Amino acid sequence: MAEFLREDKERLMRDLEKLRDLAVKLGASDAREIPASSVVVREWVRLKCRFGCGEYGRRLTCPPYSPTPEETERILKGYGICLLVKFGLCVEAGYNSGVNVHDVMFKLEREAFLLGYYPAFALACGPCPYCDECNIEEGFCRHPERARPSMEACGIDVYATARNAGYELKVVTDYNERPTFFGLLLLT
Ligand code: SF4
Repeated sequence: MAEFLREDKERLMRDLEKLRDLAVKLGASDAREIPASSVVVREWVRLKCRFGCGEYGRRLTCPPYSPTPEETERILKGYGICLLVKFGLCVEAGYNSGVNVHDVMFKLEREAFLLGYYPAFALACGPCPYCDECNIEEGFCRHPERARPSMEACGIDVYATARNAGYELKVVTDYNERPTFFGLLLLT
């Protein structure tokens, strides 16, 4: 039994390394394994979407359609390990370098699934970029295979979650500053 558990753990470590490497290859600047219990969910996060974001109610991956903070808390209880993926502030990926966080996160989800982590689910950052106009009127997504909600759309406090993972993340106060973005792969 102990041998089996050790092999399982070693396989997980190897697969996390593969996913980390893939994230960087696709344009992320870094990725860290984090326990799902360190992901911070707060009710106030959606206030920022509802009062302050021009995309509120305009994307099926955004509030009020995305999982509520309450649902997110429940969902996170079904996972033990996540991969927090950092974008920006790096020479290779660079802000405005054309890296599409949604594409990268979806590719990571797919790779994780193919490695055998069938619960894998990606959360991106910002509104879904795949259609000029979201199909709100008909109420179904045109690209359900890859459209994923953002961390913040699900009520995740990205600052607190990133800090829990050891990343320094501060509020950007000037248009000349380059923001840092994060995506979260719920793994297993
Ligand atoms: S893929 Fe298109 S239809 Fe689906 S959520 Fe994104 S913008 Fe809306």
